[in-house]
Amino acid sequence: MSSPEKIVSPLAAPVSSLWGVGEERARLLARLGIFTVEDLLLHKPRRYEDRRKFLSIRELKPAEPATVRGTIIAAGMKRFKKGTRTMFECVFDDGTARLHGRWWQAQPWMPDWFTVGREFLVFGKLEDDKKPRTFTHPETELVEPGEDEFVHVNRIVPVHPLTEGLTARVLRTLVWRALEKFETQIAEPDWSKLPVAGCRLQVENGKAPRPEKLATFNLQPSTLLPARANAVRMIHFPEELTDAEIARQRLALDEFVALQFQIQSRRKKFEAVSKALPCAGDNRLMKPFLAQLGFKLTAAQANVLREIRADLGGAHPMRRLLQGDVGSGKTAVAACAALMALEAGYNAALMAPTEILAEQHFWNFAKWFEPFGVKVELQTGSRKSGAGRGTGDMAQTSVSPVTRHSSPVSLTIGTHALFTAGFDLPKLGLVIIDEQHKFGVAQRETLVRKGNYPHLLVMTATPIPRTLGLTLYGDLDVSVIDEMPGGRGAIKTFVRTTEKLPKVFDFIREKISGGRQAYVVYPRVEVADTDKDIKAVTKEFENVQKALTGFNVGLLHGRIKPAEKEKTMAEFRANKIQALVATSLIEVGVDVPNATVMLIENAEHFGLAQLHQLRGRIGRGAHESFCILVSDAQHPEAQARLKILEETNDGFKIAEADLRLRGPGELLGQQQSGLPNLRFGNLAEDLNLIRQARELVARQGEFPR
Ligand code: ADP
Ligand code: MG
Repeated sequence: MSSPEKIVSPLAAPVSSLWGVGEERARLLARLGIFTVEDLLLHKPRRYEDRRKFLSIRELKPAEPATVRGTIIAAGMKRFKKGTRTMFECVFDDGTARLHGRWWQAQPWMPDWFTVGREFLVFGKLEDDKKPRTFTHPETELVEPGEDEFVHVNRIVPVHPLTEGLTARVLRTLVWRALEKFETQIAEPDWSKLPVAGCRLQVENGKAPRPEKLATFNLQPSTLLPARANAVRMIHFPEELTDAEIARQRLALDEFVALQFQIQSRRKKFEAVSKALPCAGDNRLMKPFLAQLGFKLTAAQANVLREIRADLGGAHPMRRLLQGDVGSGKTAVAACAALMALEAGYNAALMAPTEILAEQHFWNFAKWFEPFGVKVELQTGSRKSGAGRGTGDMAQTSVSPVTRHSSPVSLTIGTHALFTAGFDLPKLGLVIIDEQHKFGVAQRETLVRKGNYPHLLVMTATPIPRTLGLTLYGDLDVSVIDEMPGGRGAIKTFVRTTEKLPKVFDFIREKISGGRQAYVVYPRVEVADTDKDIKAVTKEFENVQKALTGFNVGLLHGRIKPAEKEKTMAEFRANKIQALVATSLIEVGVDVPNATVMLIENAEHFGLAQLHQLRGRIGRGAHESFCILVSDAQHPEAQARLKILEETNDGFKIAEADLRLRGPGELLGQQQSGLPNLRFGNLAEDLNLIRQARELVARQGEFPR
């Protein structure tokens, strides 16, 4: 059987096939990631300028961006005596008034470009109403009257992302030419022709649809979007500014559908090849475990456990994401899930992002599971064997009452080291990954292929905004613990400047004297030469010791040896250390309920989600807790971000704000791979489109390409 010939779209032609793109321009375009005609057509404008109505220079008002059109009547470079600072200045005249354009750090090419007599479009804004009227660093475009003039004036024009040597005007011209030549070749994608998409180009009088006609999609809510070809034109040359947004949505929908198709077919393929191990268990360990736990599961925890049990007994291996804000009690859920697998005679593994956290889990689980004779092993980079505290004997004798099968089963806890070199647990039934956002998606995949498709439970405290949940984690089922265990003291958060630090330390002394403990967090391990303003633990440690004389202060950061880290944490847990000076290393999972104060300096250097994580280390006991964010940040945006933390403890609200402010890469951490490459889709804003795309693909079933 011969495979069908691959149809190559005309849009795949190299951009150099366009008139006006020679070797040099092709090289410049490549810098913008533009190699083909399609790349050029999908090069999203970074903003638009309404040039339908120009203002005269006389009409300009302070702080209102506007485009004027003027001829240069004077120009010159100014040098300043001190240093190498230069300024280029030129004066535009449009017959109504004069406007100065100013560029600090003048470029050498400027005097040759801005010459007297040339006419320019000038876009910028007045800072004040002082004379002379001045635009600082305006954007300009040389007016060269010619045949393509209508591309650049008397319409809304796009301003694309540029690179040095490529002007807005040139790029706009190229996009225009590409549209003229290729617009009719821009095909509707297959999905929009499917009956399930219900896309109908609206036809007038039985005639073929004209490009400006809108298409309706059979979506909820019913969506009116332009045909793709039309959207591509509209994104560059909209008739109204609102059209550009409509066009963006259409192009974004195409992206989200393609993404959902990928996600859903990956999941389907997975379900086709994998067979689930029966791991639902029979409660004989769970019952006594819950009885000795010391608290009753919250309704939310119990619900999640029901979902997990159904998965573990289902036909396909579990692929579940468990979201629960810091302190919501995910560990107890993990323990129960592990017990189900152990009851069923399978091994389980729990993977944590840091050694500290792996060790903490190990202590907890060993304490919990020991009484039932379940072997708990620890495997981290620095600690290879399972012979941890107290489990040594048992490890030898582990005739575990759980095993129906001849070999004993165990829970292995470790860091990612667990899943790299040669780790190969036989009969691995369940893999639990704690604090998923520290691992990449790719890592998640390689990891579970280790075994014979074990069940997978991924736990995260980063409340994942719905948009990301449906894209990045779209192939996982999602459970949410949306309820905090009762009996917790409230957390109060305050933002303060460094000026107030002495008072803050007085406050910490007072709390410590009252029997509580504190964290003091800094962004850096060591002071960097490049930025001396960012405080570092190694330097501040002494200051904190001085400020808290009479108490024991511990130090924790990534460059301390594991054994020492472990010792410090144990001492802090036992209240032999009252204050812990640390980097964000403690951000995940550390659980010391008696610690009720957290001071974070240079708070502006942390992401919102990260600060929320850090803050989650307190408020774990019955006492009231206090988080003090210290920052001298002047930037209003930085202040606004910290204010959000003062105002809310709701992780979802914070994550959504963070996604808006900093984008998904930052929210999920640097290591996060697998973020979709979207030109038009916006993961912070497009929940509705994402939902529609998901729904469309889900309804379609098999999806032709
Ligand atoms: P996280 O979800 O951040 O991992 P943990 O699992 O560490 O939270 O739980 C935080 C604290 O709450 C722990 O001390 C744990 O023992 C306690 N806890 C968990 N579930 C409950 C519950 N249902 N009732 C009371 N305390 C609970
Ligand atoms: Mg946890």
